[in-house]
Amino acid sequence: MFPQTSRPASPAPISETTDESRLFDGVDLPRLAERMGTPLHAYSASAIRQRIDELHAALHGLDALICYAVKANSNLAILQLMANAGVGADIVSVGELRRALHAGIPAERIVFSGVGKNADEIAGALNVGIQRFNVESHDELLTLQRVARAQDVVARAAVRINPDVDAQTHAKISTGKSENKFGVSIDEARRWFAERKSLSHVQLDGLHVHIGSQILSVEPFRLALQRVAAFWRELEQAGHPIRSIDVGGGLGVCYRAGVDQPVAAADYVAVIRAALAGYHGRLLLEPGRYLVAEAGVLLTRVIRVKPGEQRQFLVLDAAMNDLQRPSLYDAWHDIVPVIDEGRPVTTYDIVGPVCETGDTFARGRELPRCDAGDLLLIRATGAYGASMASTYNSRPLAAEVMVQNGRYAIVRRRQHFEEMIAGEQPARQWETA
Ligand SMILES: *Cc1c(COP(=O)(O)O)cnc(C)c1O
Repeated sequence: MFPQTSRPASPAPISETTDESRLFDGVDLPRLAERMGTPLHAYSASAIRQRIDELHAALHGLDALICYAVKANSNLAILQLMANAGVGADIVSVGELRRALHAGIPAERIVFSGVGKNADEIAGALNVGIQRFNVESHDELLTLQRVARAQDVVARAAVRINPDVDAQTHAKISTGKSENKFGVSIDEARRWFAERKSLSHVQLDGLHVHIGSQILSVEPFRLALQRVAAFWRELEQAGHPIRSIDVGGGLGVCYRAGVDQPVAAADYVAVIRAALAGYHGRLLLEPGRYLVAEAGVLLTRVIRVKPGEQRQFLVLDAAMNDLQRPSLYDAWHDIVPVIDEGRPVTTYDIVGPVCETGDTFARGRELPRCDAGDLLLIRATGAYGASMASTYNSRPLAAEVMVQNGRYAIVRRRQHFEEMIAGEQPARQWETA
């Protein structure tokens, strides 16, 4: 489905011709919208598998494990697909741990990242025997030691290095600069290794780095990995064996056709191979967005066209609660009509129904003229779409379907009103704390 060019192309099999523009991984989109209603998240299983295959092919010959970053899209069906493809999980909460295990991802393929793991979460993850903790602070290291000791187990740990590298991405998803909350400096990590032997229940023999997300150049990866590699060599010399290096995620994808130029998996892995030449331990990778973003679309219907004093508004039935990225990160998503009848191009502000000016998918966007009832696709919504959704404005969570070779399966039904309010109750019983 991806043409075999040097960079990953858009996965959705949507061509210029009217007939094929109706299809998504072989499924007729207008009929899907009729059956399932809109807004609807749809994921192409074929496109996700293709990304996994590309990455596996690039990693050929290496002792490498892909740990999918669950937060990108935590739907159980997606996690099950990952499990069946031999992919593990990078989790950031016990909720994600439970999802991953529930979907059949074995504990020995799960790594735990995040700056705020609490003692209960650490205990839960130790209990099931996850592969490794990516430790982000000295306090966390001591907590891990204490909890592991109480359970009488040895926890495998990697220190998350903050390499002070600018990932050249949006500030809110940049994580590898010294001013960011993530990881520790190499100087601090050096001290952890020096006191390694005093940690009776932590096996500190791994390095981890993750510098940010939606990275569209190999240079930040190269720089970060060179710093990690130099530190690894230093540690080996000092008698600290490193059995695992986790290179994080961050590979960018194409959100804007013709503008975004993502790094191909092969080029990315070539940088890893070069930077870590001579390293023979285990390699871990934590891609999220790369595996699922372009495999997803958000199918939405035009509610109405609203002419304004200065701008024409296209009001969709999808909103910022279904897809936060434009309002949160000013992110661009390509938006295309499902059926292109060659109507004249018009300029719209494309908005949702939520009562916030930030509920805007695109400003001044050119589209074939639209009418109420028309179906549109918001592209590349498979990552950080449904997983960031909320019920803001009391809008139910959208349905999600997996699509594959002309058929679809519901992987999340549209939320009912009763589910939305489950757990809420009138303040009937008053107690003192
Ligand atoms: C979010 C995250 C990832 C995945 O990032 P992508 O840009 O989606 O690939 C990987 N590792 C860690 C530690 C993360 O927080």
